Amino acid sequence: MIRGVLLVVQALLWLLLLRLVLRTLASAFTRTRPVQPGPGSRPQMRAPEDLVLDRVCHTYVPRSRAISAGASGREEWFCSAACRDKALAAVTRAS
Ligand SMILES: [Zn+2]
Repeated sequence: MIRGVLLVVQALLWLLLLRLVLRTLASAFTRTRPVQPGPGSRPQMRAPEDLVLDRVCHTYVPRSRAISAGASGREEWFCSAACRDKALAAVTRAS
C-alpha cells in the first residue's frame, strides 16, 4: 500500500522535473533566438509614452508616432495623414 503511494509520488516528481527541464529548455531557446525586427515590425516601447487623442477616429496614438497639424489654430495630433486631412477638410468647410 505504502509502496504504491511512493511509486505515485515518485512518478509525479519525475513529471515535475521533466516539466521544469522542458520549460528551462524552451525559455533558453526563446532567449537565445536573435531578435531581428522585420521591416514591418514596430520597435518595442520601453517606457510609457504620452498618448495623444486623434479626434477624427478617437484613437490614442503615441506622440512620437502621431502626425501633428495646426488645424483650427492650435496643434492637433492624428493617427494618420488620412485623419489629418479629414480634420483639415472639416475646418476648411466650416470656415
Ligand atoms: Zn485617426
